[in-house]
Amino acid sequence: MVIEWSPSQKQRLRELGRADEGGMEFETVVERDEAFTKEVAYYQSINRKEIRNIQERRERHLLAKVEENIAEALIADGFLEVRTPTIISGNALVKMGIDHNHPLREQVFWLDGSRCLRPMLAPNLYFLMRHLKRNVRMPLQMFEIGTCYRKESHGSNHLEEFTMLNLVEMASMDDPAVRLRHHIQTVMGAIGLEYELSECESDVYGRTIDVEVNGVEVASAALGPHKLDPAHGITDAWSGVGFGLERLLMVKNAENNIKKVGRSLIYLGGARLDI
Ligand code: ATP
Ligand code: MG
Repeated sequence: MVIEWSPSQKQRLRELGRADEGGMEFETVVERDEAFTKEVAYYQSINRKEIRNIQERRERHLLAKVEENIAEALIADGFLEVRTPTIISGNALVKMGIDHNHPLREQVFWLDGSRCLRPMLAPNLYFLMRHLKRNVRMPLQMFEIGTCYRKESHGSNHLEEFTMLNLVEMASMDDPAVRLRHHIQTVMGAIGLEYELSECESDVYGRTIDVEVNGVEVASAALGPHKLDPAHGITDAWSGVGFGLERLLMVKNAENNIKKVGRSLIYLGGARLDI
């Protein structure tokens, strides 16, 4: 009889970073378990080395570096950086069309009856677009990088807290669709990633233009005038796009699971800590 890794052995080896393909076969359980112990020791030593490397490198956290690269590219291109509260009002969601019947409503982390952790940056950026208009020269190019929160049914592409980069340009002299492509290129160029654009449907924005890398969505974009504009007092044309920074890191580093690159107590720089 041919004996293979047990499901829990497979799981452990996967966690330690061993690629699943080429599963091994054994003649006895004893032989298999001895091989398992050796494999675990081998991958633990790789993980340990990797963690030590991270310590020696004296570099900022991977996510911080991505943030920095993107922020610098955008600022060089004339963008204003903002930081807004992560706690927002339920009313701000209603203005985004996310009312009681909306699918995204189920994904919101509520703090109390009227306040929640933001599932997106757009409500705050809409607010600033309206209020900055009176004070700054146009066009206004603005971005925020910050944490967003959504209850997710734990897939390998989703985190419950993740980092969004949302940029918007309002009242450009040029065609917003052309500007949008330019901004997407600025961000993807800063990361050094090739990508494709595809038209998609979003529960919040309706028609979106998605940025994809090997079929994985890394960003969704929209253009205004938009059906959500009147509720926010916006009348100018705009282009905007929201990227998930962990998604960008995941595809850039060819990781199979977004958890390796997100906020974590289990992973550090892609290496596993519970070794
Ligand atoms: P998906 O369809 O992949 O669930 P979405 O279309 O709901 O994502 P958007 O609202 O378009 O997400 O958010 C913009 C970007 O934020 C996404 O393209 C993705 O890169 C990132 N993002 C959204 N939800 C998550 C999440 N739960 N974990 C990590 N990144 C996310
Ligand atoms: Mg999307």
